[in-house]
Amino acid sequence: MSQSIPLVDLKAQYATIQADVDDAIRRVLENTSFIMGPEVSAFEASFAAYCDVQHCVGVASGTAALELTLRALGVGPGDEVITVAHTFIATAEAISAVGATPVFIDIDPSTYNMATGALLPAFTPRTRAVLPVHIYGQPADMTTITAIAGNFGVPVIEDAAQAHGATWAGQKIGGLGRAACFSFYPGKNLGAYGDAGAVTTNDAEIAEKVRLLRNHGRHDKYLHEIKGYGERIDALQAAVLSAKLPYLCEWTQARRRVAARYAECMADLEIMLPHVDSQADAAWHLYVIRTSRRDEMLDYLKKQGIGAGIHYPVPLHLQPAYADLGYRPGSLPVTEAVARSCLSLPLYPEMTDEQQDRVAAAVRSFLEM
Ligand SMILES: *Cc1c(COP(=O)(O)O)cnc(C)c1O
Repeated sequence: MSQSIPLVDLKAQYATIQADVDDAIRRVLENTSFIMGPEVSAFEASFAAYCDVQHCVGVASGTAALELTLRALGVGPGDEVITVAHTFIATAEAISAVGATPVFIDIDPSTYNMATGALLPAFTPRTRAVLPVHIYGQPADMTTITAIAGNFGVPVIEDAAQAHGATWAGQKIGGLGRAACFSFYPGKNLGAYGDAGAVTTNDAEIAEKVRLLRNHGRHDKYLHEIKGYGERIDALQAAVLSAKLPYLCEWTQARRRVAARYAECMADLEIMLPHVDSQADAAWHLYVIRTSRRDEMLDYLKKQGIGAGIHYPVPLHLQPAYADLGYRPGSLPVTEAVARSCLSLPLYPEMTDEQQDRVAAAVRSFLEM
């Protein structure tokens, strides 16, 4: 049998950048600046430039980026944050961690992003932030979301964990709201070799506040201005990320090529292919199709050695962890329909045409059974 095809192939990526990454790691080991220091500031400066924003603050993870941003905005107990249930749980956990309540609204049936029509009715006097997710690397409609939230004087925070390098209306993700939260979890479009994250913003006050919060409330070693947290980015991870960042444009282009080729190979099939908004240039973190025979197709692909996945099978409003919020099956019909039918196909920059053809052929042969 031919070799299996994983959902993402981090080994293939490492093979192409080994010298850069090994050098970066050696540099940190030799200068022994493991916490904060030059590697962290250098990465922050280059990632800010990459996102066309003024400030980037490196933190311990994407989850920490979300949580510290909410804290920097003063969101806390009694407050509500409007978000989506079709996302990784960290989006909502950050809201819960600061003591606020996530208010889940439905998603758009074609882009799977926050349904802008559901946003206005979700506002209450307690709404303190709106937290859209650029799901699968497809930017949410930031024009409409920031306009609606702006009318209430409420900030928009982008969950950009899956969308490094995506653009909306010609502008890079990361500077479209008050702040954006990135994850560098290994499998993300820009991945560290461990946990890491960042907050990007054009708001100097928020950047400053996140800087304090991530490092025990201090600038000075022995002077703690506020009560903070130990949520710094690791210098080794910052060095790895600096080594990888110069390749990100190329990787994103490669993802776009793979996505376009999938669309070509599978155009005639009875499945729903991803839709990209005309204002968006997606970063293609995942290539997600929809089929009513999802579970069977997943099994079939696995048997063919194809590492498909589901993002995400159980929406957050129906998770046991959020049972206390009182949502029921049927509360968010589009979210629930997508959760039942979505299937992520392998997509990574190093994917060969031959690998892609095998995936497309397997999808085709399943549908023909
Ligand atoms: C990965 C991810 C996160 C969390 O990032 P971590 O770095 O794993 O903490 C948050 N939101 C979304 C949408 C994600 O995909």
